[in-house]
Amino acid sequence: MFNLQIEIQENTFYCKKCINHKGCISVEIGSDGICNHCKEPDKYFVVPISPELKEQKRKEMEKILKKIKAKHRNREYDCVIGFSGGKDSTYLLYILAVKYGLNVLAVSVNSGYMNKVALNNIKQTIKNLGVEHIFIKPPIEVFTKLYRWHIINYDSNDFPMMKKICDNCTDLIDSLVIKEAARRGIPYVFIGLSPDENARYFFEIPKEKLNHSLLPEHWKSDFYSNEDRKWWWDPNEFGSKRKPRLLFPLHIWPYNEKEVIATVERAGLVRRGKADPLKTNCILIWAIGMYDIMRFGHHMYRLQIAKLIRQGVGDREHWLEVFNRLEPLVANGEFNTQQVDRFFKQIGITRDELIELARFKRKNDPRRDNIENAMKFKGISL
Ligand SMILES: [Zn+2]
Repeated sequence: MFNLQIEIQENTFYCKKCINHKGCISVEIGSDGICNHCKEPDKYFVVPISPELKEQKRKEMEKILKKIKAKHRNREYDCVIGFSGGKDSTYLLYILAVKYGLNVLAVSVNSGYMNKVALNNIKQTIKNLGVEHIFIKPPIEVFTKLYRWHIINYDSNDFPMMKKICDNCTDLIDSLVIKEAARRGIPYVFIGLSPDENARYFFEIPKEKLNHSLLPEHWKSDFYSNEDRKWWWDPNEFGSKRKPRLLFPLHIWPYNEKEVIATVERAGLVRRGKADPLKTNCILIWAIGMYDIMRFGHHMYRLQIAKLIRQGVGDREHWLEVFNRLEPLVANGEFNTQQVDRFFKQIGITRDELIELARFKRKNDPRRDNIENAMKFKGISL
């Protein structure tokens, strides 16, 4: 009986085109075996992008690079590049510094929660490229508070906790990088978001948005101090000085995941195998990822990578295997255990507390049965 049930599900559980499955947040698999995200890719967690818009932005990027080149000799730095030690920012750094020959200032933000592999990648890349590099390191409490606030106050049936934290954390990191550029009068900031990382912005953070402080509403509460708030981007700090633009060139350049990894390995910037996002990703991907898997039955990155696959730049079989193997391990705390333990120690919340919280919220979710069926199907204990 049990076997029969699994057999029936096997055919209809996963979307035939991507790696989404029954029970994933906002996912429904049609009778044709294709999910709603594949049918209407512009509807979920993305800024809709037409080929015309992409082409228009690609031309704009060419113009910007020409403009930068024209003023190249008069400036110490042509641009700031946000550099995390992951494959995409390493690739972007390589293309702009080597292929375009720009004078770049690589800027890394150390949140205190950084992955060790990424830190080593940063060292090796900087040494081998010989570009200027700085680390910005706010007190660890700033990021600790950011994460704690979300864990304590998080209450949603529609968004993974990871998404909320990631958006908030990314905005803070962007703030720190753009402040550095503004302080030095550097007109452009480039960030290596890949084409699937377009849930909020496409190609650029709009200038209108950067004309205002990026401080989120909840950072105005007593939970945070004035000292914490001063790390956020606020254009008023820089008076009438020209404000930098913040752009995502990988959104519009041809992008192939395997090619990106091969390029940075070939150039000797990253040791073989160390460009793998599973190794370089921020440790919250596994710690908060554990919460999301126990709460929603899947890792948030499943929906994210599904986008890459849909765009034709990721391998479905590979990622299906990776997620099906990883999700039960992450849920059990058996993946990247050392680094995840460091996260819990630093944040002051235990693994058990986080899992209890996830179970409690799951019990009250109207989709509870769907979520738990998916968990059972994938071998994740409830
Ligand atoms: Zn699909």
